[in-house]
Amino acid sequence: MIPYGKHDIDDSDIEAVVDVLRHQFLTQGQQVPAFEKALCDYTEARHAVAVNSGTSGLHVACLAAGLTKGDLGWTVPVSFAASANCILYCGADVDFVDIDPATRNICTQALRKKLNTAAQQNRLPRVLVVVHFTGASCDMKAIRALTEPYGIIVIEDAAHALGGRHDGDKIGRCRYSDMAVMSFHPVKSITTAEGGAVLTNDDNLAYRCNLFAKHGITRDPSLMQGESHGPWYYQQLELGYNYRLSDLHAALGLSQLAKLDNFVAKRRELAAKYLSELTELPLALPQISSLHESAWHLFMIEVTRHDRGQVFERLQQRGIGGNVHYIPIHLHPYYRNLGFTEGDFPAAEQFYRRAITIPLFSSLTADEQTRVVKVLTEVLA
Ligand SMILES: *Cc1c(COP(=O)(O)O)cnc(C)c1O
Repeated sequence: MIPYGKHDIDDSDIEAVVDVLRHQFLTQGQQVPAFEKALCDYTEARHAVAVNSGTSGLHVACLAAGLTKGDLGWTVPVSFAASANCILYCGADVDFVDIDPATRNICTQALRKKLNTAAQQNRLPRVLVVVHFTGASCDMKAIRALTEPYGIIVIEDAAHALGGRHDGDKIGRCRYSDMAVMSFHPVKSITTAEGGAVLTNDDNLAYRCNLFAKHGITRDPSLMQGESHGPWYYQQLELGYNYRLSDLHAALGLSQLAKLDNFVAKRRELAAKYLSELTELPLALPQISSLHESAWHLFMIEVTRHDRGQVFERLQQRGIGGNVHYIPIHLHPYYRNLGFTEGDFPAAEQFYRRAITIPLFSSLTADEQTRVVKVLTEVLA
């Protein structure tokens, strides 16, 4: 079975991890700060806070934003549940903005309308989590322009998008957002097995992300209440978590990051081939933006004249492992119990009914890709 996504690990990655195992620190050594610095160098963001998953990154970003009980956070329904769960973790309420069926990202028209209504009802969100779906950037300039007048903190869920570009900038540069969160799960652009990072240009947000990711504890006497008792002393200032990344994982991340641009170039080549070879089929294909370069985390087709379930099963029977990203968050039983229901976000629901993710990853061979195209063409004939 050809999977929809897969990590790309070579001997240099393995050596990097083994090397850490032979040395003094497995965690809290030099690898994590080196990985954080490399992420800053790559994205040109001022700060990077490495954490043990993308989900932890989203959680500390929301905590750093001051999101708390009584607040509201907004995100999109077409994402992994973590994009919304991070808001609920903080005790805040969640709501969604529907997607634009063309870009599959947050619909800026829908955002404008919802903000107007929320302003009239005095129920504006404190944070907005936007998702660069499949690796293609949202229209961050428009999102910033719409949210800035209300002081809304914009968090990019960039779990799909490391290695992509927004208007010339690397995604993670945060020119039009407050924070960007990366995931290093094995299916993403680069992997640390499990891992993530928050990028930001704001000194205070970086400090708060770090604090919340490390138990809320500081060893810096200048931040303590009262006098330090001595060199052993630390204070807990907030209710934080142990969301640290280990040095083993960071060493893998450093080694992977050096190959990121090659990985993305390979994904882009494969995506271009799909785009040219699937044009004649009864499908809606991803849009290419002239402004933003996708990181091509996923290649998603929408069946326009067939039953999605049948196509999915026939592909699987013939060795093509697909997936569907995503079951709209608001339709999960947990979210239905919060009051959401079918019909709340029609564009997201329509996308879900038609979507299939087909194999795309840097080590997909030309033969494998030819086979995907051939089987898909036959199944849709
Ligand atoms: C993968 C992913 C996450 C969560 O990242 P983990 O590292 O798996 O915790 C969050 N949001 C989106 C859009 C993702 O794809």
